[in-house]
Amino acid sequence: MDILKLKDWFIDLIFPKECISCGLEETYLCHTCFKRLELNKQFYCVLCKKQTNHSQICENCKKKTALKAVFVVADYNNQILQNLLHNLKYNFVEEISDYLGDLIIRYLKANNILKIFQINFDNTIICPVPLHKKRYLARGFNQSELLAQKLSVYYKIPTRNLLIRQINTMSQVNLNRQERQTNLKNAFIFNNQESIKNKKILLIDDVVTTGSTLIESAQALEQKGFSEIYGLVIAQRED
Ligand SMILES: [Zn+2]
Ligand SMILES: [Zn+2]
Repeated sequence: MDILKLKDWFIDLIFPKECISCGLEETYLCHTCFKRLELNKQFYCVLCKKQTNHSQICENCKKKTALKAVFVVADYNNQILQNLLHNLKYNFVEEISDYLGDLIIRYLKANNILKIFQINFDNTIICPVPLHKKRYLARGFNQSELLAQKLSVYYKIPTRNLLIRQINTMSQVNLNRQERQTNLKNAFIFNNQESIKNKKILLIDDVVTTGSTLIESAQALEQKGFSEIYGLVIAQRED
C-alpha cells in the first residue's frame, strides 16, 4: 500500500466518509446539505461591524490598515459550516476544502465581487495567510493555502506564498483581543523574489475574529509596496 493510500485508509478509519450534516455515505457533505449553506447577506467592515458597501473597510478603520475590504463568505453560526471548518482544521480532511472553495466561488459570483473590485488573473495575486512551519508540519497542510489553490484553479489567478510566519505564534483561540494583537506583532515577513509590483493582493484565511492576523499580513505587504490589498475569509467568529 503506498503512503497516500495508507493515509486515506487511516483518515477513513478515524473519520468515516459520511455527510457531516445528514449522515449520507460516500461524501463528507452531500449536495442537499451543501445547498443549505447560506451565503452571508450582511456587508460590513470586518474590523468594527459597521455596515459598508460590499464589505469595504470603513473610513475610520482605514486609518489603521491597508486592507480595502474583507469579504466574509458565510455566517459562522451555521452549524454545517462550523463542522466543515472544524474538520478542515483538526481532522486533516483536505477534501473539505473543495466544498469551502465552491462556497467561496458561489459567494464571489452572487455578489459580483471580482468585477466590482476589478480583481482578475492579470492584475491580482492570491496570497494565503501562512501557518507557522511547526504547525504546518504537525497538520500537513495549510487550510488557507488549500482554499487559495481552489480559487486559483477556478479563476486562473496565480497564488504565491508571499508571507512567512516568523515566530511561532501561540494558537490564537485562547487569547483575548489585546494578547492576540501582541502575539502577532511582526509575525510576518515577506517572502518574494519575483517582481510583482503593482499587483493587487487577495489574502485568504479560513476564519477571521478581530482581524489582527489580516491587518498584520496586510502591513507586511504594504511595506513592500503593495497598495491594494483585499481579504477573503469563510466566516467571522465572535471575539
Ligand atoms: Zn447531507
Ligand atoms: Zn470599521
